[in-house]
Amino acid sequence: MIPFSPPRIDQKIIDEVVDTLKSGWITTGPKTKKFERLLAEYCGNKRTICLNSATAGLEIMLIWFGVKEGDEVILPSYTYSATANVIMHCGAKQVFVDVKSDFNIDPEKVRAAITPNTKVIMPVDFGGWPCDYVALNKLVREPEVKRMFKAASTEQENLGRILILADAAHSLGAMQNGKKSGSLTDCSVFSFHAVKNLTTAEGGAVALNFEHLDNDKLYDQLCVKTLHGQNKDALAKTQKGNWKYDIVEAGYKMNMTDILAAIGLVELERYDNETLVKRKEICLAYNKAFESKPWAILPELKNEKQETSYHLYPLRIAGIEEATRDKIMQQIFEKEVSVNVHFIPVPMMSFYRSLGYSIDNYPVCYRNYAQEISLPVFFDLTSEQIDEITNSVIQSVEEELYIRTQ
Ligand SMILES: *Cc1c(COP(=O)(O)O)cnc(C)c1O
Repeated sequence: MIPFSPPRIDQKIIDEVVDTLKSGWITTGPKTKKFERLLAEYCGNKRTICLNSATAGLEIMLIWFGVKEGDEVILPSYTYSATANVIMHCGAKQVFVDVKSDFNIDPEKVRAAITPNTKVIMPVDFGGWPCDYVALNKLVREPEVKRMFKAASTEQENLGRILILADAAHSLGAMQNGKKSGSLTDCSVFSFHAVKNLTTAEGGAVALNFEHLDNDKLYDQLCVKTLHGQNKDALAKTQKGNWKYDIVEAGYKMNMTDILAAIGLVELERYDNETLVKRKEICLAYNKAFESKPWAILPELKNEKQETSYHLYPLRIAGIEEATRDKIMQQIFEKEVSVNVHFIPVPMMSFYRSLGYSIDNYPVCYRNYAQEISLPVFFDLTSEQIDEITNSVIQSVEEELYIRTQ
């Protein structure tokens, strides 16, 4: 069975983890700090904080901004539920908007969804393809949109407009107008979960890129907030005589450990030269195999303005219904190839349906979902396996479409 996206665990990773274990320092420490520094350097943003997940990063930024009951947060209906759940945790309301054919949030739909209660927009770079940040950054700065904004916290007053909190879980390394994901808007959150492009097993990072404040100061504040509200971290406390600490707020526990950062350091070092090269190669091979097929809708990977991070290869089969997609997937699985769907839209989940959301309000999202099949993309995929995958997909699709027309 060809797996969908196993992590790349080689001797280098193992050595680095063992080295960390032997160092005697396994929680947040020098490796996490180094990983943060190198990530910010790589992305070109002002400061980066590593945490134990992307979800934690999204949530802490909403909390920091003072999002609470009565507030609205705009997000695409086409995303993983983590993006929506964190809004719920703050007591705020999810305002889903439909996506475009490229799977990303539609800035015009965002505009229509803005109300005086809107505090945050959370775009999602689906599959690593950056959202239209030029349009979104401009939108939140429009005088009429700013006038509508009702600041209800110090941070909201300081920003003076809607915050853009990018769910960049997929898009580390993606480019737009010569800049990397992480430096495209106010702040962006990466995921280092096991299936993501760059993994630390579990983990995430918030790339801070604010123009109106001191990002180093904000980093210090976030360190406190994500470590119990404690004014000194474990490393600082080990310094001679420096044992006393204070709790300055009821903080959270979201810090990254050095064991995880050790994996991240190896992964980041080879990210551009190995990881992205290989992922691109795989996606281009898929494009080549399917481009002549009249039923294939290929994903956008690169244009004159931007390039994806090749996180997913979301193939779509033109004109089919959801049930046919499911049958095709079953056929592919029977040929020993693992495929997936990204994503089942959040409004289709039973919990969100129980809140009154309905997929009927997001027709493009539903069509993208109904016709989508994600193919395996991972570092250790061989060219023989790529052939196996493309052959199984082509056979499965064509058998199913042929049966249908009989
Ligand atoms: C993976 C993912 C997340 C959550 O990342 P974690 O690091 O597991 O918290 C959030 N949003 C999207 C779009 C994701 O794919």
